[in-house]
This record gives sequence, C-alpha cells and structure tokens, in this order.
Amino acid sequence: MSQTVCILGVTGSIGQSTLKILDQHPHDYSVFAVTAYSRIEELSEICKQYKPKIVVVPSHKVDELNTILKSKNITGIEILQGEDGLIAVASHAEIDIVMAAIVGGAGLLPTLAAVKAGKRVLLANKEALVMSGEIMMQAAKDYKALLLPVDSEHNAIFQCLPQNYLQIETNKEPQLGVSQLLLTASGGPFLNHSLEDLRHVTPAQACKHPNWSMGQKISVDSATLMNKGLELIEACHLFSIQEHFVTVVVHPQSIIHSMVQYVDGSTLAQMGNPDMCTPIAHALAWPKRIGTHVPALDIFSHQLNFQVPDVERFPALKLARQAMQSGGLAPAILNAANEVAVEAFLKEKIGFLDIPAVVDHTLNQVENGPAESLEVILKSDQIARLIASQRVVQLST
Ligand code: NAD
Ligand code: MG
Repeated sequence: MSQTVCILGVTGSIGQSTLKILDQHPHDYSVFAVTAYSRIEELSEICKQYKPKIVVVPSHKVDELNTILKSKNITGIEILQGEDGLIAVASHAEIDIVMAAIVGGAGLLPTLAAVKAGKRVLLANKEALVMSGEIMMQAAKDYKALLLPVDSEHNAIFQCLPQNYLQIETNKEPQLGVSQLLLTASGGPFLNHSLEDLRHVTPAQACKHPNWSMGQKISVDSATLMNKGLELIEACHLFSIQEHFVTVVVHPQSIIHSMVQYVDGSTLAQMGNPDMCTPIAHALAWPKRIGTHVPALDIFSHQLNFQVPDVERFPALKLARQAMQSGGLAPAILNAANEVAVEAFLKEKIGFLDIPAVVDHTLNQVENGPAESLEVILKSDQIARLIASQRVVQLST
C-alpha cells in the first residue's frame, strides 16, 4: 500500500531531492502535504504536479498562493498558515512519513510535533535536534517515532552500526562493540585558505561548495565547519554517546560519508557519490532499499585522503564541541547565534571570520543552564538571537 508523505520545506534543496526520489516510486509513496516559506511560484508548480491535500505557507504568503493557484486552475488544496499550520500537517493523522527539511530553528516545533505523533521522521533539519537534543530523543522513545537520519554522515553511521543500535538503551558509552564514530567533513570551499584569505571571502564564494549542492545556510556552515560542529552534536544525540567518542576527519573527496570503528579493530565505512538522494532514499525505505538515479561509485576514479581539522582557522568546530561538553542550553545558544551570524554574513553585514566570533561572544554572554523544557530552550534561543544581533551591529559599524 502507498505511504503518505509530508515534506516540510519542499522548495529547498532537500525538499527537491525528496520529490525526485518520490517520482521514481509513484506506487509506493504519495505526497499528502507540503510546506514552504517563500518561492510561491515554484510551490504552485509542485501543487500542480503532486496535488497534495494540504499546503502550508506563512500568513503573509496566503493571498499570493491563492491567486496563483486560482490563475492556474489548481483546485481542491487546503491552505494552512504559519507555525500552527506546520504543526498541524507534521502531526496529521493521515500522514505516515514526515520529511523534516526546514532550515534552522524554525523547524523545531513541527519536527517535534511529528515525533510526538509517532511518525517515521526523516531528519534533515539538524538544528532542531541540536536545540532540543534530549527532549527530541526522549519524545521519539515515548511516542514510538522512528527518527531516521538524512544528514549524509549520520545516515552513513547508521548504515555502519549494528542493526538494532537505535533501539538499545545506551548510557552515553558506545555499545555492541562500537568504539568510535568517525564523522567525515569535506572541509568546505576554504579548506586550504590561510586565516588572512578567510578574512576576505565573500558569500558567493562560501556558497560554492566543492562537492555538494545545498541551501545557502548549510553551505556557509560547511565553509566555517560549523556544519560539522552541529553534526557532532547531532551524532551525540542520535547515537546516544558522549562527544569524545566522535572524531572529526577531513576527507576532501566526500566519497566516504562517515565511519564506525569497532573494538576488534574493524572500521566500517559507507561510500557513494555525494548526492543527498542516497541517504533520503535510505531513510525513506529503511530497512528496505529502493532505487535512485545516483550512479554506482566508480571506485577506480577516486583517491581518498584524510586529515585532521584545523580548529585555529575553523574555530566553529571547537566552539560546537565545547558547547556539547558544557551541555544544557549551550548547543541551542550556539545554534541561535550561528543562525544570526550566517544571515548577517550572507547580507554582507559582517565578515566570514566574524561568524565564529559572534557565536563565541554569545556563548559567553548568555547564561547556560539545564535544557529542562522546550520553553526554557526557546527562551534562551530568543535571548541568544538578541545578543548575537547586537554583536552583529557592533561589528558592522
Ligand atoms: P534550503 O534553504 O534549500 O531550504 C529550506 C526550506 O525551508 C525551504 O523550503 C524554505 O521555504 C523553508 N523555510 C525556510 N525558512 C523557514 C521558516 N522560517 N519557516 C518555515 N519554513 C522555512 O535548505 P536545505 O539545504 O534544503 O536544508 C534543509 C535542512 O536540511 C537544513 O537543516 C540543513 O542543515 C539540512 N541538510 C541539508 C543538506 C543539503 O544537502 N542541502 C544536507 C544535510 C542536511
Ligand atoms: Mg552532513
């Protein structure tokens, strides 16, 4: 029987790749709901092609969407709006699978709603897990949601772990013979830049990733290595281990997507061409495998290299590791400050090296404490955004 899918963030890079996979399996999946924040014309084309039952847009885009749908004679689609609309579709009784592909903290409440509704949740929106770590993981257990990693590294680790790893209760130590997770990083477009060169890089250069084609925010995060920092935190929560069991490895070719080491000396790696359709298809169908258009890896045409990340030139990675060590609200504060700083960098208000500086400043200014409830997390997210914005103003004048 066909499964119903909700794609949160359908107009984004992950949203589009998800549609590509669904196109290849029309009898197995149907699009029930989609959401977007902007690009309403593109959204209307998606509505025309996939005929979802429900579409969610922000309230200031409802009229625009209505007008376009009417002009194209597209009928029978319910339009919901804002965060309430996102939460309603993410937890809708008629949906089986939720692709969480909104970028940033805006995805937290809808993703958590999907988890609490016990869905199969395909997690691309790493910021949601970074912010709410224990709460999200506990909710997945309590409500029997299947939280599957779409982030290529975490999907790779998941594939290399023993089969029942996600189900076991861990006490922050690796279990079942696992000794270490090796999280690979491409190093981004500025891997070999000097500190002086980094001072002058532009948003356009930062968004030009050597191996992956992605949204703007994650592209900048990849360039600062904050993406790897967020992924380190993501891995600790998903696989329930302390941060010192996760080693970051720079692997510029992005052919190995991550590795798992075992106590017997084995290292298992998951490899493939860098295309998000592979981890999306894996999470969608797991434990089955379904076809994608991604060609098999031509193993003869690649050389694989590995190096230790340079946290002096890329301090964001160090800041994220420290935030995970501190625990509590620190990861949420780090994430909020980073979102503000990346946006300011994209608008050319601050320089590239100011991004980790804003994050560092914010972590020092906002009080840490236990992340005991969603309310507390959202409050410190707000405070961190305010402090980071003030720092951006100071740096840009
Ligand atoms: P993107 O910018 O291409 O798309 C983001 C989507 O979220 C769009 O549909 C947009 O309309 C929607 N959105 C943006 N702001 C919103 C808001 N305030 N409220 C509701 N919706 C909003 O981003 P992306 O590259 O597809 O990344 C999505 C998520 O997946 C991010 O968390 C990213 O870290 C993660 N991820 C992406 C990739 C990748 O290859 N692109 C890989 C791994 C993980
Ligand atoms: Mg990744």
